[in-house]
Amino acid sequence: RAKSSGRNEAVFFDEEMHRSSLARMEMQTLLPRAIERGELRVHYQPLVDIDTGEAKGFEALVRWEQPGVGLVSPDDFIPLAEESGQIVAVGEWVLGTALADAQYWRSTVPGAADLRIAINLSARQLQHPGLVDMVAAALASSGMDPAAVELEITETVLMDDVKNSLDTLTRLRRLGVGVAIDDFGTGYSSLSYLRQLPVTTLKIDGTFIDGLGGAADEHARPIVEAIISLARALGLSVIAEGVETTQQLTVLRKLDARLGQGYHWARPMPYEDVAPWLRAQGRSGLLKHG
Ligand code: C2E
Ligand code: MG
Ligand code: MG
Ligand code: MG
Repeated sequence: RAKSSGRNEAVFFDEEMHRSSLARMEMQTLLPRAIERGELRVHYQPLVDIDTGEAKGFEALVRWEQPGVGLVSPDDFIPLAEESGQIVAVGEWVLGTALADAQYWRSTVPGAADLRIAINLSARQLQHPGLVDMVAAALASSGMDPAAVELEITETVLMDDVKNSLDTLTRLRRLGVGVAIDDFGTGYSSLSYLRQLPVTTLKIDGTFIDGLGGAADEHARPIVEAIISLARALGLSVIAEGVETTQQLTVLRKLDARLGQGYHWARPMPYEDVAPWLRAQGRSGLLKHG
């Protein structure tokens, strides 16, 4: 009996694998046309001043509006695009779109003239020889101030090939853009490399923020505190990711964190919602303090 149920499981597993590899192939086939057909969307999530609740900028987060399926999350197609190399075209589209959108809000929404924009880069993009020229071209065609642009790269990707990272980041920084280490604390940064790499911001991973103020506080708080002082010592900005509750916000204020991002203030929103959201924020003076 054990044997036959084992066999059934194996069959089931094969079918699952078959189905999922079909879905993967299908997505990889459809993705190039998705760009042409305008099925990709950028959603924007506010980066907020923890003291005042004011939006300082937005992070651009891609989605795929697949006909008959709905909004597909980046976690479900970015890894596939990364595997196939399609990420380079997707990334170019996201960067061009996000810079143009940000520049539009800066020039049309009252009080938004200094708005910042953050864009994610993947491993394959960082290795791509055309990256720096692509960023330069997107800056030029959007007219966006490079000093208000930050490129987010995960810790693991940066540390994976420090020599290439150092070279590419140096050239990106020469364009005037900032570089943030995304999901900081989940990878394996060497502190000496961290000092050498020309980064400007550490984004504390949401898993650490999650623990603040609750049952896991005594585990999470020392880590968050250590990352904040490390950033200070290195002259870097810090952003606390994934802030969801008032308790977390209270602890972050005690730790003197300056910038945050998370559902507590706002979820990522479609392009059309950003200008009205900014205008409403301006009218109400400040966002909720929690
Ligand atoms: P990330 O860059 O670390 O982005 C933060 C993720 O956390 C986003 O998920 C965001 O919606 C989510 N988030 C924000 N606030 C909260 C919160 O309070 N609680 C929780 N639980 N989650 C929160 P999203 O949009 O699904 O993106 C997932 C990942 O996909 C991103 O992680 C990034 O690594 C990647 N990604 C998104 N857009 C792009 C892109 O244009 N290019 C590349 N290469 N990667 C992208
Ligand atoms: Mg990010
Ligand atoms: Mg992150
Ligand atoms: Mg992430």
